Amino acid sequence: MTKSKNIVVLTGAGISAESGIRTFRDTGGLWEDHSIEEVATPQGYAANPELVLSFYNARRAQLSTVEPNPAHFALAELEKGLMERGGYLTIVTQNVDDLHERGGAQNIIHMHGELLSQWCRACDQKFKSDAAFTLMSPCPKCEVVGKVRPDIVWFGEMPYRMDTIEATILNCDQFVSIGTSGAVYPAAGYVQMARGLGKQTLEINLERSEGSHFFLETRLGKAGDLVPVWVDEVLGG
Ligand code: NAD
Repeated sequence: MTKSKNIVVLTGAGISAESGIRTFRDTGGLWEDHSIEEVATPQGYAANPELVLSFYNARRAQLSTVEPNPAHFALAELEKGLMERGGYLTIVTQNVDDLHERGGAQNIIHMHGELLSQWCRACDQKFKSDAAFTLMSPCPKCEVVGKVRPDIVWFGEMPYRMDTIEATILNCDQFVSIGTSGAVYPAAGYVQMARGLGKQTLEINLERSEGSHFFLETRLGKAGDLVPVWVDEVLGG
């Protein structure tokens, strides 16, 4: 492989698994014992907002009990190394946790939102908070009660910053997918875009993802073992 200067890494729940945050696929399509329809759709929220708020309160509270793992730290190192080379790393993450940030990376696009961000549907403003929210919580911006929802992109909603993501893939040398099942679109389609543009493509995952055949190279194993090795290759090679 030639030396890459500009790299886009797409990450999924698998990169945070070794930190102790469960993925969907490990648990038979359930997210911490709840169906996706129940806790990750606008319909689920409309049907039972208390349940959905308490589900995300629990996910948010869990963040203080977990730490970034060697894969998160290695990507932060890669970001620094590529910048020194005059290039860039963009981390496009489907994850809603904050482990990339706490691992030291800076250029991160949370395409599915963030647990630590909240969205008031009354004033349409977003704000950072690690607090727990209930239907009695007022918005700190407009003070309307009961309209604050998690700033999470649920199934059926439009992921964030898709134009930026596509422009970044267009300009990169290499597209790498880490710890994602390739089952959730549009993220799962980015490899096809990268391949169509003639980019190098690499998948690092515990098992072959649904779109595995689109990647030029696949490395199977734990992200915490394989990502630091790959980063050493890119920076040292
Ligand atoms: P997924 O659960 O569908 O797939 C996870 C993939 O990671 C699987 O293919 C699995 O084999 C692989 N994996 C598991 N452990 C691994 C490890 N140690 N190293 C490497 N690979 C490993 O997750 P997804 O593709 O990200 O899509 C599901 C959606 O779930 C996303 O939209 C995301 O927002 C949401 N989610 C996020 C989190 C989080 O923020 N940490 C956790 C659960 C679900």
